[in-house]
Amino acid sequence: MPTKSELPLADKARLIWLLDFLRADLSQKAMPPGALLDWRNQVFANLHESSLATVTAPDDPDLAALKPAYADERDPTVALARDLLTRVQFELLEGVKSLEQSGSWQPFGITPGSGPLWSWERRSDGQIVKAYCGKWSTITLATASDLLLANWSQLRRCAYSKCRALFLPKENREIYHDRKCSANKRWSDFSPKRDHQREKERRILKTGPGRGRRRKQR
Ligand SMILES: [Zn+2]
Repeated sequence: MPTKSELPLADKARLIWLLDFLRADLSQKAMPPGALLDWRNQVFANLHESSLATVTAPDDPDLAALKPAYADERDPTVALARDLLTRVQFELLEGVKSLEQSGSWQPFGITPGSGPLWSWERRSDGQIVKAYCGKWSTITLATASDLLLANWSQLRRCAYSKCRALFLPKENREIYHDRKCSANKRWSDFSPKRDHQREKERRILKTGPGRGRRRKQR
């Protein structure tokens, strides 16, 4: 059995992929179609395959977003894929936030029948896994939340207040999710600070510098 701090490599790689996905800006402005389709195609290997999750809803409208597509914004599948991934990412981020704030997360609400079905299945390597089946977004949400929550105690939020991204620290002393956030935090701590309130007061009282020559009082 792996200890708490030693995830099996495959699971660790999958978790790192998932955290990268949760931090990714999926908007059209930030993510070109080719990169978006890569994220979509990687979901199977990182979330479904190792947990034997299967899509079993032939009428699932999201299946249209999974068709082969050209890495071109004009291909309608690209827009569908962007919408699908954005929805899944949003639900996961909201779920994590809810768990942090209220200690509870119901990924599939409380309506009976909205969650996935599952069974115990033996994988080819002999490991028994909980295998979900249902709609694509359902099995993705289920497998992703399992992966996150199995490693919950090791996850951290980036200490840079403008980021707060979820990440897996490589070392215990790591408090920023990347070097950019660490540099930004240092910059915001040491850069000269302007006190806008004080500057405003001084402007009103005309006691501050940079107001030009004061008019002579008559
Ligand atoms: Zn950060």
